[in-house]
Amino acid sequence: MSEGDDQVPAGGAPPDEDAAGSAPLPLRWVEELVNTRNVEDDTDEIATADALADWLRARRLLPAGASVTAAAHRRAVRVREGLRALIAANNPEPAAHPAGERQHPDGVDPEALADLAGLAHDLPLVLDVTGRPPRLVPRDPESVDVALARLLAAVAEAVADGTLDRLKACREPGCRWAYYDHSRNRSRAWCSMAVCGNRAKARAFRRRVR
Ligand SMILES: [Zn+2]
Repeated sequence: MSEGDDQVPAGGAPPDEDAAGSAPLPLRWVEELVNTRNVEDDTDEIATADALADWLRARRLLPAGASVTAAAHRRAVRVREGLRALIAANNPEPAAHPAGERQHPDGVDPEALADLAGLAHDLPLVLDVTGRPPRLVPRDPESVDVALARLLAAVAEAVADGTLDRLKACREPGCRWAYYDHSRNRSRAWCSMAVCGNRAKARAFRRRVR
């Protein structure tokens, strides 16, 4: 990371000039995990198990000495795409696309969501009542799965405090960048109005003049 990297998301993502910042922690981990893959540029910050280990350690989600197996890496990637599908559902109004371009009416990938549902069975959370407030924690204290379970716990907490609705995946099919919608009426549809919003508008314009 060099100076100014916090201005531009990793992987050369669209400049986020209409963003007022990321999701609050721990939901931000979900946002950042989803954005390890830049759909538009086809780049992946956690393309290898070692890269995932670095990413998790940077967020103190993995102990210093722990490594990431190939199987755990594959699970993490699947959880990421499941979470992308989950938050895509928070961007409800379908974008207008030319026929055939759109795969799913609301940008939600049902297969990724079903996959996440299956994976969640193996990422058990229990209610820890010893702390204040009581919170969901991973049951198994070992491995990368703890980190993945903590991300799912973050989703549960965000449901409880009403912030999950604001974490969305960009409506632009070729983008799907995760962003936190700070707008008063929670109506922000694109990661960046200047890039993806204008792209959608230009498409709508081309259809009208055709
Ligand atoms: Zn976008």
